[in-house]
Amino acid sequence: MFNLDEARGRAEELRALLEYHSKKYYDEDDPEIEDYEYDALLRELENIEKAYPELITPDSPTHRVGGHFDNSFEPVVHAVPMESLQDAFSEEEVLEFDERVRRGVDDVQYVVEPKIDGLSVLLEYESGVLVRGSTRGDGVTGEDITANLKTIHSIPLRLPEPLELLEVRGEVYMPRASFEKIVREQELNEEKPFKNPRNAAAGSLRQKNPKITASRGLDIFVFNIQRIRGKEITGHKESLDYLKTLGFHTIPFYRRVSDVYSAVEEIRAIGARRGELSFDIDGAVIKVDDFHEREILGSTSKFPKWALAYKYPPEEKETTLLEIEINVGRTGVLTPTALFEPILLAGTTVSRATLHNEDFIREKGVCLGDRIRVRKAGDIIPEVVAVVSHPAEAQPYQMPRTCPSCGAPVFREEGEAAIRCDNPDCPAQLLRLLIHFCSREAMDIDGMGPAMLERLHEAGMIHTIPDIYTLDFDRIAEFDRMGEKTAANLRTAIERSKENDLSRLLFALGIRHVGAKAAKLLAQRFGDIDAILAAGAQEIAEIDGFGAVMAQSVWEYFQLEQSRALIDRLKSCGVNMACREKKQEGRFTGMTFVLTGTLAGYTRSEAGKIIEDLGGKLSSSVSKKTSYVLAGENPGSKLDKANKLGVPVLSEEQFNEMTR
Ligand code: NAD
Repeated sequence: MFNLDEARGRAEELRALLEYHSKKYYDEDDPEIEDYEYDALLRELENIEKAYPELITPDSPTHRVGGHFDNSFEPVVHAVPMESLQDAFSEEEVLEFDERVRRGVDDVQYVVEPKIDGLSVLLEYESGVLVRGSTRGDGVTGEDITANLKTIHSIPLRLPEPLELLEVRGEVYMPRASFEKIVREQELNEEKPFKNPRNAAAGSLRQKNPKITASRGLDIFVFNIQRIRGKEITGHKESLDYLKTLGFHTIPFYRRVSDVYSAVEEIRAIGARRGELSFDIDGAVIKVDDFHEREILGSTSKFPKWALAYKYPPEEKETTLLEIEINVGRTGVLTPTALFEPILLAGTTVSRATLHNEDFIREKGVCLGDRIRVRKAGDIIPEVVAVVSHPAEAQPYQMPRTCPSCGAPVFREEGEAAIRCDNPDCPAQLLRLLIHFCSREAMDIDGMGPAMLERLHEAGMIHTIPDIYTLDFDRIAEFDRMGEKTAANLRTAIERSKENDLSRLLFALGIRHVGAKAAKLLAQRFGDIDAILAAGAQEIAEIDGFGAVMAQSVWEYFQLEQSRALIDRLKSCGVNMACREKKQEGRFTGMTFVLTGTLAGYTRSEAGKIIEDLGGKLSSSVSKKTSYVLAGENPGSKLDKANKLGVPVLSEEQFNEMTR
């Protein structure tokens, strides 16, 4: 253990670290470390403060509810503080909690329920009508987010009975399916994806524009009555049963038990279901049932003494690495995947995890036959955490020098981690390119998913993209489990895709560095494919939002003989080659905006979308032609430049006024 001076130094260090990570987590919804790592730092500080109480400061993170309130929302002072929960990381700590409780009250009954990993909110009803919704904030003051909460369909706007007053607390969360969909879209649009469903939920809920919140597929579970008038309720289970009758989505699988051992059983049972759930949980909460007993037990400045959050460890398991599989992506990148002896992890059987690239394998020292430790990051994607041991017979692994799909030599460009196959006829690339071409965000051909394309490829009916447009549907109708109707539907979907806007086609071609957004800019700037084919790299680079690398990649793609041949064939098949999605006309038509600093209510791409939807243009640099610079917090040099050039500067509030 430390002496006092060392302890003081370490406590200061820990407080600075915790403050930094809290800011990333609560204010920016962009954590840099996993929750269990944060919890371990907090635990270390708690232990130091326990050993040296003189080192406790009133604002220590061990004594404060994390989170904040933001001035861009109306403040809401909570009548009943929205407290946090004390943590436990072992069953032993649950038993200790029970001892503390039983020192205060006899014959205690507990309710055990899952701990949802989302964002805590308060819903206030007067005479049975929802009048306000707010965030937890710092526990005392939160933010008024009523308009955003009203977009969540499972929140009743009116209760079936006109209760005088009801304040309920709940957790807004993003179901895994919504999270995966949004992350896919973000990746396609080349935006920074959300790290996990909790951060995605928090970012989505604290939006200035409720339409954005509405599009994010959020949901809520309510788990506590904070205040009630007009109905007598004496316990937690009774309150949850009652909330259900009022139409709320209450916390699922809550159960009342009469001793701590049954509570531990229940915690284990919830843990075992973790992987099957459609939403994330990060623990189970054990609560004293009786409200009168809760009052006797009381609270600290941070949490109630009548409840405890048992946090499940991030599931990590050891296994043996059997093989490394190389997948060739649509752009020819070779990605190594670890294949290991199957393990049960967070509720699902896992036998593969990404190894990212050659550098990752080298840094971790991964060899075939190694014992490895695997974890589900954010409970979603399995990853190899570390090599545990190298058995004597383990074999060092070398990335292949030729493409496992077509045998062509592969190469690694300087400054890039990826190894790439650049043979345009590589079958692995072809299949992935076809899948991408037909996908919903690209040409959107319903019925032409990976399985169908694989079948057509195996049947020798598709060798190139244009083959999609010359298929023999009579033959397809004879495929196993197909039939004439399905074949006819496929034909209609393919025909319909010919009418797509040029921007979809440009994205569908799978040009390196060109996402859906860039494809749209390209189509809008040049209007049709012939103008793009005739454009020079410099001209392409002048598009706002295009960098030199992207422009070069587009230009190079269209210089290739096979790209031009592909376009000719698609043209002759009747695929539309013109931009039909004209830029929207609106109150920003003819105006150019530049963003600098961090906006409280929007991500950059959301602000950009609002500007574009109103007909405006977004540019990355300030010039005399810039109409406005929109400056958020911590603006950069663009603000200085705007002031120097006399370009008007807008605050986020003024921008909100203009877009209202
Ligand atoms: P907490 O999340 O551990 O527990 C309290 C919260 O649990 C409550 O606010 C409540 O909204 C929620 N909850 C969900 N289901 C519940 C239920 N059934 N009953 C009662 N409450 C329920 O504590 P906290 O103070 O909100 O936040 C700390 C958390 O944030 C920790 O998990 C910590 O790891 C994480 N964090 C992470 C970082 C990072 O950098 N990764 C930084 C700061 C905080």
